[in-house]
Amino acid sequence: MAETRTIFTRANLFDGEGPGRPGAHVVVEGRHITQVGDGPAPAARPGDRVVDLEGRTLMPGMCQSHFHSCFGVFGGSISSPILGLEASAPFLTIVATRNLRTVLDHGFTSVVGSSNGDYIDVALKEAVGQGIIEGPRIYACTREFMTTGEQADGENRTWFMQIGNKGLTRKLDGPEAWRAATREDLGRGCDIVKISAGPGHGSAPARDYAYLTDDELRACVDTAHERGKKVRAHCPTRTAILQCARAGVDVIDHADRMDDECIEAILAADSFVLPSMLWSVRFLEMAENWDHSAGPFPIGEGFSESTDQVLDRLRLIRADFEHTCRMLPRAIEAGVKLVIGDDFGTPIMPHGEEIAEFEFYVKTLGIPTLEVLRWATRGGAELMGALDRRGTIAEGKLADLLVVDGDPLTDITCLRDPANLHAILIDGRMLKDALPA
Ligand SMILES: [Zn+2]
Repeated sequence: MAETRTIFTRANLFDGEGPGRPGAHVVVEGRHITQVGDGPAPAARPGDRVVDLEGRTLMPGMCQSHFHSCFGVFGGSISSPILGLEASAPFLTIVATRNLRTVLDHGFTSVVGSSNGDYIDVALKEAVGQGIIEGPRIYACTREFMTTGEQADGENRTWFMQIGNKGLTRKLDGPEAWRAATREDLGRGCDIVKISAGPGHGSAPARDYAYLTDDELRACVDTAHERGKKVRAHCPTRTAILQCARAGVDVIDHADRMDDECIEAILAADSFVLPSMLWSVRFLEMAENWDHSAGPFPIGEGFSESTDQVLDRLRLIRADFEHTCRMLPRAIEAGVKLVIGDDFGTPIMPHGEEIAEFEFYVKTLGIPTLEVLRWATRGGAELMGALDRRGTIAEGKLADLLVVDGDPLTDITCLRDPANLHAILIDGRMLKDALPA
């Protein structure tokens, strides 16, 4: 017996590739998309559900490609260490479960992890896979691999918090240690390794150097690639971007000081860039509006600097940010592949505000909405190695779909409010159904 079908008619179709196609129809049968067309919809068979989507857009489910599952517990200050040590692992797992639900409710049917503690991403992935909880598809990340004494080393000032909890970062020195850790974490089910490759992105002065030696980096990247897994790198400095691209790192996160030579190296490596600029926008907004009469904004060495020293640091951070604003359109022009996502769950940007990042690229940097939405759809699927199965709306692909009230291609803000998502499908299953019966 043929499977029951859902026939979406008169949709404004954004297929994840090209411009909107008004008046399109899409047929979902079981887990798959079986027909996509612009002409009249196929005749319904008994038992089929026909949904008229006039005024609404059908698009691929989106991918948050920089998902910190456990972020979202903090004392209300930007200086709180967000290192996976804010609470117990069981508590962080509960927070992560909530965050996963939040992004799903906002239309993200996939997430790519960007560091977490205690293999929480792997647990989430397995819980979703076993149907214990509903959630997006998860590309589970490792803890953040890094070298001793650098920016993200939580033990620099808060070593005492490491006692009894391994936290979100993992210190490794020497190629053998990097290789062993990569083997271990990928063996435990992670899909992507996060590394901290250089200073910057919210700290200054960021000397232009790379944390890892070439040997350390290659030990990690080669070990991951041999296993069909990926590597992503917190990579603000020019030196680190060049080093990571040349070593074949799959995702260059932040890329603050990218220049033309970096763009060339990134293109040659076919790496993705994930700019994550909303964090910088919100950070600078808060820091530059800080009331310094009550003490300087809390960044800097040991939090004991004068207001002038702190203001100098903020000027350097702003200069990096403005450089990225200038370079990002050039990178796009050159053909660099982008994905989207940011440090949601930090105090200045809760999970659920993901579309604010989209809006920044569209409204402030003037990047076409279509381009930004492609990062969020086909880009995420390509990063996860799944573009043959999802990421776009095409016959034979899995039905990971959103029905949006309005047209995100002409007004990106309509994705902001989850109430505008009338349906969310993963694998052909309606996880949200606010469509007419
Ligand atoms: Zn991050």
